[in-house]
Amino acid sequence: MIVESESRVNPNSNCLEGKRCPTCGSYGPFEVVVRMRVLLCDSRIGSAQDPATEYDDNAYTTCRSCGRQGRFGDFAE
Ligand SMILES: [Zn+2]
Repeated sequence: MIVESESRVNPNSNCLEGKRCPTCGSYGPFEVVVRMRVLLCDSRIGSAQDPATEYDDNAYTTCRSCGRQGRFGDFAE
């Protein structure tokens, strides 16, 4: 039986499930550049029509802990 000396269980279970900074090991939070639909008027940018955001593995991501930048897909265990 192999006993791990430290916990290696990723605590993320939602949108960051399986995600971890490859540089510092942080489980987040991460800043991710997302796409979002808003109502754009000539005089101003209105409120979001649909609060849903879209991103994929190519989304530009920054680790809040160490500042590493890269693709969201690179932030994986
Ligand atoms: Zn980091």
